[in-house]
Amino acid sequence: MSEQRSSEEKNADNKASDQSIRYVNLYETPDKIYTRRITGFFQNIRRYTGLPLIAAYLLLPWLVIDGRPAVLFDLPARKFHVLWMTFWPQDFMLLAWLLIISAFSLFTVTVLLGRVWCGFTCPQTVWTMMFMSVEHIVEGDRNKRIKLDRQGWTFEKISKKTVKHSLWILIGFITGATFIGYFVPIRELLAGLIPFRNDLGMLQIGVSPVAAFWTLFFTTMTYLNAGWMREQVCKYMCPYARFQSVMYDSDTLAVHYDPKRGERRGTRKPTDDYKAKGLGDCIDCSWCVQVCPVDIDIRDGLQYDCINCGLCVDACNAVMDKMKYPRGLIRFTSEDELKTGKTRFIRPRLFGYSFAVLAMISAFSYVLLSRTALSVDVIRDRGARLYRIAGDQVQNVYTIKINNMDDEPHEYSIELDGKYPFELRNYRPMRIEAGEVFTLPLRISIPRSELNTEKAKLKFIVTAQDDPELQAVETTNFIGPAVKKRR
Ligand code: SF4
Ligand code: SF4
Repeated sequence: MSEQRSSEEKNADNKASDQSIRYVNLYETPDKIYTRRITGFFQNIRRYTGLPLIAAYLLLPWLVIDGRPAVLFDLPARKFHVLWMTFWPQDFMLLAWLLIISAFSLFTVTVLLGRVWCGFTCPQTVWTMMFMSVEHIVEGDRNKRIKLDRQGWTFEKISKKTVKHSLWILIGFITGATFIGYFVPIRELLAGLIPFRNDLGMLQIGVSPVAAFWTLFFTTMTYLNAGWMREQVCKYMCPYARFQSVMYDSDTLAVHYDPKRGERRGTRKPTDDYKAKGLGDCIDCSWCVQVCPVDIDIRDGLQYDCINCGLCVDACNAVMDKMKYPRGLIRFTSEDELKTGKTRFIRPRLFGYSFAVLAMISAFSYVLLSRTALSVDVIRDRGARLYRIAGDQVQNVYTIKINNMDDEPHEYSIELDGKYPFELRNYRPMRIEAGEVFTLPLRISIPRSELNTEKAKLKFIVTAQDDPELQAVETTNFIGPAVKKRR
């Protein structure tokens, strides 16, 4: 009997704990979010950061420098043109460094200002903002959109939805075509996408099927991402969202609700003496939730879904203004500031990240600015013999790789420089095509009597004959026989 009772008690306990746990079905359809439109300081910042980014993205493929697009990743020719510079596959390291610098810059900003990248400049956010603006213009504000979705398929609903989706697809197409315009000259791409009838009377396009496929792909992805998936991408698909929290510390500035000031929440009239009723400044209007693009309640505390966009700050400030309360019940602040009233801006982690970013940017800028359109690699023959003796000559064999990264072909000459009178055998200047890597075996010799060391420094100087500025120098060693010591 006692055993029976204890199992019943256990069942009751389990039931109670089940009720306290909120189970989430990962396959359930998320509720549609109807955000309220808000204006304010942070919304303006988002607009002023988003618009230049969109403008730069759209205009860059149309700019022409030296007769070609200002930015063109010409994959078939394996050339990447960025403004006045041309990069080759051999410059891949520069791209890798650029990505590393970007990642570290992102970490630094996150330590200082939380996920501001997500809220203000991430393309997913910027495009979502654009799609939401279209939705707002065509279907109206939050309440009108909720009403429209609940009503049956009237003429008004069909026409509004048709206009909205057509505009979304148009923006998707402009985005997709612009993106492919970074790989195929945009004028050719757009002209080639217009179908025409060929000699057999069949419809045809004048651009490669691969370019047409990727344009369609990115059009569809933009439409789906910014039109339908929106915050789902930030919450479940973005890898940065998953690990950014490890960069937060208690001094990181993020959007917080100030519970000390806001609690107890409750409705009231602006004229009420709410403090006498034991109420805080939060009037529980839920505007902060209604404007949130990821549909969270920031009053529940800092959550990983929050993209730090500041819309709830603008919404709550608008409410505070109406109530004639001080602004900042929801604000960009730190956990420490909420607890102790102070935020430490200078801290070791931030210093470390900033120093690493500055050092990397300096090194990267130096490499980029001192880069010439010529690179040379010299490899000493690592065969069984370190050197050869031919008559009275000591010889070393090298393989030299000359990479002409210029847009023009050049004839290159090789000179030697060193403490000893080294001589280049069987060599004449060579013509190397644009982008070509030329590999050449070279034999260097010196009279044995002239060499009084076992290892001597030797410089290869490669120069374009028509352009002495186009020069690269590579230093290597010359190995000779052991030198007999004088008595
Ligand atoms: S909680 Fe506020 S800052 Fe965070 S995502 Fe929502 S609206 Fe933006
Ligand atoms: S907007 Fe401000 S006042 Fe309204 S519920 Fe949110 S925190 Fe409270």
